[in-house]
Amino acid sequence: PQGATVQKFAELLAVGPNEVIKRLFMLGNVLTLTQSMNDELIELVADDMGRKVRVVSPEEEFTVVYHDSDDELKPRPPVVTVMGHVDHGKTSLLDAIRDTGVAAGEAGGITQHIGASVVTVGSRKITFIDTPGHEAFTAMRARGAQVTDIIVLVVAADDGVMPQTIEAINHARAANVPIVVAVNKIDKPGANADRVRQELTTYEVVPEEWGGANMFVEVSAKKRLHIDDLLETILLQADVLELRANPDALASGFVIEANLDKGRGPVATVLVQRGTLKPGDVLVAGTSYGRVRALIDPHGAHIDSAIPASPAEVLGLSSVPVAGDEFRVFEDERDARRLAEERALRERLTAQDAKTHTSLTDLFGRI
Ligand code: GDP
Ligand code: MG
Repeated sequence: PQGATVQKFAELLAVGPNEVIKRLFMLGNVLTLTQSMNDELIELVADDMGRKVRVVSPEEEFTVVYHDSDDELKPRPPVVTVMGHVDHGKTSLLDAIRDTGVAAGEAGGITQHIGASVVTVGSRKITFIDTPGHEAFTAMRARGAQVTDIIVLVVAADDGVMPQTIEAINHARAANVPIVVAVNKIDKPGANADRVRQELTTYEVVPEEWGGANMFVEVSAKKRLHIDDLLETILLQADVLELRANPDALASGFVIEANLDKGRGPVATVLVQRGTLKPGDVLVAGTSYGRVRALIDPHGAHIDSAIPASPAEVLGLSSVPVAGDEFRVFEDERDARRLAEERALRERLTAQDAKTHTSLTDLFGRI
């Protein structure tokens, strides 16, 4: 790998270039902005600044892995994804959860569809990601993103384990995310929750009461049965994970949904994973960048900050990012712009390259 220039390194860590030059100097290296730092030096300087970096590939920039100290880490809500076979009741369950959560939490408030929602249970919160779709989920994971802390696996008690049930289990396993099983539709005449338990053991999803590692809850999304039990169980599972994040940092996280709104322009729903996102912040998400013009919560309310595990709609981006893109706040708007433009240029060149190859193949045929 060829490393990165001092300039690039500063951009990626969202620090001033002079700070980097100073650190380099202290470590015995005299470098200018446009000179390259090798991987070793990158790691050394990053470490010196209390950051951890991982070099991904020569063309791609390295990924910044943050290194927060123990006292910077504060408890945060769990981020939960509901998965399962088609028609087993994922949408119904999310609806039931939102009703229960709203009833238990803030008064009224119709949840808008922004791709995520926050449910209040007593004094605690749970963030649900609505429809990551298996593809988006896979894309995020491929980028090393841990988007979800817990997967709620919905299995219909009258249908049992089906192909997408197994797919969801494999996702969870690959991402090393615990599974809470919601055995749904227990109101139905043909419902057999024990058969579901039995079938799942084949895939090493075993109830705690049978000596396994998975919490099970029998629910009916339609009849709103035991939804509060499910929420309590999710919080129990979250307690085991001891989820924490540093809220006092420049925000970073992931885009979970994005679209072009006729009136509002590019709109992205982001999930903040670290730091606190505020209006006025300058962020880069993939090839898109901009100053946050407005921050909107899942109830449609304008908010002045989004802390870790909070989903929020972001207005003010230059273009529509892609679901799964990482976002990061920069101190300097010029750095943000440069990074976004560089990525866009690289994307165009790659696309052009692919085209050239195609036309050569067209001309000369396959060899
Ligand atoms: P999804 O494809 O997993 O999102 O499933 P849906 O939430 O769309 O539900 C599929 C069908 O199952 C719908 O007709 C729901 O009304 C029905 N359904 C969902 N949950 C329950 C339940 O607890 N009991 C019964 N009887 N039907 C349910
Ligand atoms: Mg659905």
